[in-house]
Amino acid sequence: MKSELAIYGGEPIRNKRLNYGKQYIDQNDIEAVCAVLKSDYLTCGPEIPHMEHKLCEVTGAKFAVAVSNGTAALHIACLAAGIGKGDEVIVSSITFAASANCILYCGATPVFADIDHDTWNISIANVEQKITSKTKAIIAVDFMGQAAALNELKEICLKHELLLIEDAAHSINTRYDGNNVGSIADITTFSFHPVKTITAGEGGAVLTNDIALYRKAILYRAHGITRDENLLTDKSNGNWYYEQQLLGYNYRITDIQAALCCSQLDKLDAFSCRRKEIVAFYNQEFKNINEIILPKEINQSDTTRHLYIIYLKLELLTTDRKTIYEALQAENIGVNVHYIPVYRLPYYQSLGYPKGLCPNAEDFYERCITLPLFYSMTDDDAWDVVCGVRKVINYFRK
Ligand SMILES: *Cc1c(COP(=O)(O)O)cnc(C)c1O
Repeated sequence: MKSELAIYGGEPIRNKRLNYGKQYIDQNDIEAVCAVLKSDYLTCGPEIPHMEHKLCEVTGAKFAVAVSNGTAALHIACLAAGIGKGDEVIVSSITFAASANCILYCGATPVFADIDHDTWNISIANVEQKITSKTKAIIAVDFMGQAAALNELKEICLKHELLLIEDAAHSINTRYDGNNVGSIADITTFSFHPVKTITAGEGGAVLTNDIALYRKAILYRAHGITRDENLLTDKSNGNWYYEQQLLGYNYRITDIQAALCCSQLDKLDAFSCRRKEIVAFYNQEFKNINEIILPKEINQSDTTRHLYIIYLKLELLTTDRKTIYEALQAENIGVNVHYIPVYRLPYYQSLGYPKGLCPNAEDFYERCITLPLFYSMTDDDAWDVVCGVRKVINYFRK
């Protein structure tokens, strides 16, 4: 009776649903937010430089600009990089839509690169094939938290005079070749959405070592307006005077969010440790299941994982991914799918991107399932996930 799948009327592995991701908020977070609510500044106050300072400390980046969310961070990164009409930007096809939308916001053309078959990060060989005289930048996503092949990407960028933008929404606290993500690419962006490793409620950041890119990012965050005496073109006015120097946006983060982010950053190493522990446990438990492939882990990346994804060898199973997904949901294991190849989304299809553009990405999408992974999962929760996966795979094994 116990091995009958819940989807067919059996007992589920768990009574209470386990989500695939969840934030962890403690008393320090609550006090940090409350302190701001009682202070003079809800926005444009001291918590924002505090957050930027902490982000530089954690990543080793020279400059950080805190913004309202990860998508705004990507938009600002593209604007600061000078991406505009007529430019092409190469981006990974397996990512959240925002990684490519930011290119369209600037009037430029996203060029989708396929993923590497083993790591599921952007394929270096495919990036090289897609470079043209119009290519201006590469947006590499550290998918699941594992760093993309940044050394190879940097080499390509140097050779073709391109900018490397690293969408590190998944990879805060990951190290690559001994350096922290945030200090490696020309521009790195983070997201602090609640499913990510640390949260600000909503929030994001742009990091760079380049002062010119930093100054641009600061301008784009707040309408293109500056009061900085050193940057004003007309210095004859009193100190009420400000200049709008380009067309920017309001992408400011509040001090309420920045305070939460600072408090979460204090727990980042603990968050990383626990995520690594759960990943090691899953790896150990899944490595002998023939019907599952795990991502290849590259030596250069000391990875803090945001997502744990398994790839199903469908040829060894009697069913498809949809049924496996639904069977796991019925066991109360909150699985998910990351991601639909961006160019397969209806809006991108309407722009003319064809099916078959990135074969590895499309193959991956047919077979991937994201399992729960978050800091406050207990060992019992992780064990339930393993039991649920085993139960479902055993049932559908050929
Ligand atoms: C979450 C995410 C974003 C967008 O971040 P928001 O803070 O939700 O705007 C961008 N890229 C990737 C890869 C993401 O996972």
